Amino acid sequence: MAQKKEERVKNAWLNIDEEERVQAFHLAARYIDFLNQAKTERETADFIENAAREKGFVDLARAKVIAAGQKFLLKYKNKISALVVIGSTPLENGFNIVASHTDAPRLDLKPMPLYETDGMALLKTHYYGGIKKYQWTAIPLALHGVIVKKNGDRLVVRLGEDEQEPAFTISDLLPHLAREQMEKKMSEAVTGEGLNILVGSIPEAGEDKDKIKAAILKLLREKYGIEEDDFTSAELEAVPAFKAREIGFDRSLVGAYGQDDRVSVFTSLEAILALQQPSRTAICIFADKEEIGSTGNTGLRSYFIENLVAELFHRSGRQDYFLVRKALACSHALSADVNSAVDPNYEQVFEKMNNSFLGEGLVVTKYTGSRGKYDASDANPEFVAWIRRLFDENRVTWQVGELGKVDEGGGGTVAQYLARYGMDVLDCGVALLGMHSPFEVASKADIYLAYKGYKVFLEAVPAIGEGI
Ligand code: MN
Ligand code: MN
Repeated sequence: MAQKKEERVKNAWLNIDEEERVQAFHLAARYIDFLNQAKTERETADFIENAAREKGFVDLARAKVIAAGQKFLLKYKNKISALVVIGSTPLENGFNIVASHTDAPRLDLKPMPLYETDGMALLKTHYYGGIKKYQWTAIPLALHGVIVKKNGDRLVVRLGEDEQEPAFTISDLLPHLAREQMEKKMSEAVTGEGLNILVGSIPEAGEDKDKIKAAILKLLREKYGIEEDDFTSAELEAVPAFKAREIGFDRSLVGAYGQDDRVSVFTSLEAILALQQPSRTAICIFADKEEIGSTGNTGLRSYFIENLVAELFHRSGRQDYFLVRKALACSHALSADVNSAVDPNYEQVFEKMNNSFLGEGLVVTKYTGSRGKYDASDANPEFVAWIRRLFDENRVTWQVGELGKVDEGGGGTVAQYLARYGMDVLDCGVALLGMHSPFEVASKADIYLAYKGYKVFLEAVPAIGEGI
């Protein structure tokens, strides 16, 4: 039974004035532009780097000293990056950190992807992150990524975005012959091995077999100088080819691919770029690999954060490793990630007293996890109280969030990989409809409040954490 929620009068649109409403729409326009430019973790890292350099951020690797007001950029493996604004108080007092992730669910090409069958050439894929496989059929797809040849040459691929360029697609079965498929569970109706991308159909004359595959390889050789084996040292991602759009008669929403978690990336980036001299050193981390468990050397289970902080101390001439640990333990962090908005089409999986709603402000998620908070960081109430005060004092409309009903499912964020240093961490982000789908929906009011919330957090002067 649907629960009523009369007690809530927290619609964010009613809590912002005309000036802020205009700001929210301007921010959303820039956000839509960003989403169309940055559809992969690498493209997102490039966008961050360009935006930061324009605002005077310089490579941390070139810093001779560390002094208040300096702005640093650190980009690692072209995928994970950090922006730092040095505060006026000592580094060992800790940092205000906002950590988001740049990767999003998609279809990666396999190392040997190209084959021919039934008069068509296709590419085999292995999906990345938690997807509902059926959502990736019958939509236009673009290919993004890099191919690194044996000699080290790197080819950047971005094909299918421009309407003049060809796009790609995965066919779905016609309903006329889908009787058996339609009886299956949705998780089994489209299989992983069934997600093969259509890439061509003209045969090469004179070849004995696999004439279409041969023609595609010839085209790739002539146009890009690549051979079949080069797919093995490539990182090619199929993503929805359509553009981000305003949604609704009132244009109040944004519909787009990859808003988990590029909405947090964009809003925290805007926040740190707008920062004046902070009291405490402010850091934004833009991590990769969150959707597959924060693994690898560009995910937050790596030593990226520790290395960053060690480098800050190293370049400030203080090489006592204890200071690295102390600074991290004294820090405060927002794990900037999305939560699910209550979906009126699927009310049964939500618990409306504790789940978040579109347009009701920045979502504060005390814990994530599943099956009894398993894998959750679970923020300390002292820290949550401080964030409540901070947001209320700065008119940042916020709401509580939890991922659906207890035992309905669940999920995690990078919070635990920050919390292990001892710092206080709270999950805090925008509510989405259709999370992980090729077309997620967010409210422009919430996007604006994420920017505002992250900014007041980065500027805040908290009581220094207990540290170690
Ligand atoms: Mn996420
Ligand atoms: Mn996700």
